[in-house]
Amino acid sequence: LTWSKKTYIQLCTIPGVRTTLAVSSGKGGVGKSTTAVNLAAALQLAGAKVGLLDADVYGPNVPQMLGLGKSEVKVIDTPKGQRFVPLEAHGIKVMSVGLLAEADHPLAWRGPVLHKIITQFIHEVEWGELDYLLIDLPPGTGDAQITIVQESPICGVILVTTPQNVAISDVRRSVYMFRQVGVPVIEIIENMSYFIGNGGEKISIFGSGGGQKLVEELKAPLLGQIPIDPLICNGGDVGEPLMLVDPNSKASQVFVQIAGAL
Ligand code: ADP
Repeated sequence: LTWSKKTYIQLCTIPGVRTTLAVSSGKGGVGKSTTAVNLAAALQLAGAKVGLLDADVYGPNVPQMLGLGKSEVKVIDTPKGQRFVPLEAHGIKVMSVGLLAEADHPLAWRGPVLHKIITQFIHEVEWGELDYLLIDLPPGTGDAQITIVQESPICGVILVTTPQNVAISDVRRSVYMFRQVGVPVIEIIENMSYFIGNGGEKISIFGSGGGQKLVEELKAPLLGQIPIDPLICNGGDVGEPLMLVDPNSKASQVFVQIAGAL
């Protein structure tokens, strides 16, 4: 594998996978999955081999965002035992808790079951060779996040937040948790940072300055600020990430710039 930018201290322990990055958020609805999907697309367009593991057990939306719907996941026998075969969408290898039959019954996924499913997801997927495995984590700071980080030492976490000040305390908690469990790199992406008006001016719909405050307080770098773009929303619904529908949009350009820094 030759596609490399940053040197990560932590080594990925999943065979064949060079870099594992988790995408998380302090709370739901800030655009974590949207960011994971578009970043995966940006990395893939740049020539990297990319896998996307949707481990958001409470809201596994990645299959829909990539147009996979309710596709069947195959299981194959290998010398190491049974393995899930990831699906492929737009050149990205995809595995999601949402692709399992039980996904429609999330309430049954508690304690040990959740732990078992996450462990299987980390260790029993036949990824092949990957430059990047992005893991879409559930929002917040619970058992699921800690299990994932402990099962597979991840190289870094990208925390997605929105610009308003109330979002900061959620991100602060997440940063403390990931630092506590030994994640070496924690970086921030501010989503829905502004809307571009008809005259090209930036309108701060959800306030501003949140991401910058986090950088100063938590010493976590800000990777980029993604504008509000109605096409992102539409792209998520029809299974075509904005990165692929409109690679020249401002939001896509920010994803490309972030992907270049990973
Ligand atoms: P999360 O994974 O944090 O719960 P999602 O990625 O599902 O959030 O996004 C929540 C909603 O916000 C979705 O409908 C998505 O299309 C929309 N969205 C996310 N980011 C943007 C953006 N930059 N501009 C416009 N809509 C966005």
